[in-house]
Amino acid sequence: MYKFPENKRYRILRPWLEEKFGGRTWKVGLDAGLSCPHIKDNVGCVFCDPPSYTPAARNEERLIYKQLIAGISGVKKAHRFADRFIAYFQSGTNTFGNINYLREVFSQSLNHPDVVCLSIGTRPDCISNKMLDMISEVAGDKHVIIEYGLQSINEERAKWMNRGHDLECFNKAVLKTAAYGFDVVTHVMVGFQDESKKDMIELAKFCGDLPINGIKIHNLHVTINTPLAEWYFNGEYKLISQEEYIGLVCDIIEHLPKEMAIHRVSASSPRPYLVAPEWCRSSPANSQLIDNELLRRDTWQGKHKNNNIFEESRLNKC
Ligand code: SF4
Repeated sequence: MYKFPENKRYRILRPWLEEKFGGRTWKVGLDAGLSCPHIKDNVGCVFCDPPSYTPAARNEERLIYKQLIAGISGVKKAHRFADRFIAYFQSGTNTFGNINYLREVFSQSLNHPDVVCLSIGTRPDCISNKMLDMISEVAGDKHVIIEYGLQSINEERAKWMNRGHDLECFNKAVLKTAAYGFDVVTHVMVGFQDESKKDMIELAKFCGDLPINGIKIHNLHVTINTPLAEWYFNGEYKLISQEEYIGLVCDIIEHLPKEMAIHRVSASSPRPYLVAPEWCRSSPANSQLIDNELLRRDTWQGKHKNNNIFEESRLNKC
């Protein structure tokens, strides 16, 4: 078996960051007050809970530098020697805003000497060369990670969940971003009805064939005030079981390149927002079940995937 750090059967994020930045690295979540261009009349993706993007649910401190200082001191209370951080713009679509405003907030976050990386979450249809040029300019020699939501490679499912962009758009965004030398992380979702092992293998191969360095695997879960919640309560939509979810995630892991960092293997929402399933509340429990299943199958990340070396020429096509 290929040896992954910490005796795991897949590449978890913490040692990946340690290797990249030369020591333990913490994320500090920052809120630039940005919305999402896809939310119209309070509806965006069918699983997305718009109230969690309203100011009331967000950081009231508007100055990014102050948010950063507060976040860093919070980490240092628990980890006195913490000395490297990622400025993580997580809430909303963080390239959806005036470019001068974004230049200012990204610069503020990078001014702190202990910040080693700028990480930006956004949508693939909300990126441009002009934006990437600006990010490259403000980041200088600091590291950049851009996160794109993908959720599914099945165009019908993407329409069903109202993603508002297609696969080609995602492809272009990833290739364009990687050509800047930035790391690319993607979010995928597991748990749509009628998904099979074959779907998971195709998803893993699709991600593995692109210059994507990291993946976040989320279980589809129901949050309040969403179209999905309505369908769930009406009995029109059924969630998959925890056992099914664990099996499908392991199918993905087996087919991902072993170099790719797996940032998360399940997801949930805070208590007032989550409707179902109950089992997604505990990430450690789900991680443990995935470890158990990989062990039971005697399998690991990349067992069924040949090494995936990206050719320079592919990165320059977009
Ligand atoms: S793109 Fe993100 S923020 Fe926007 S509606 Fe979809 S899940 Fe919500």
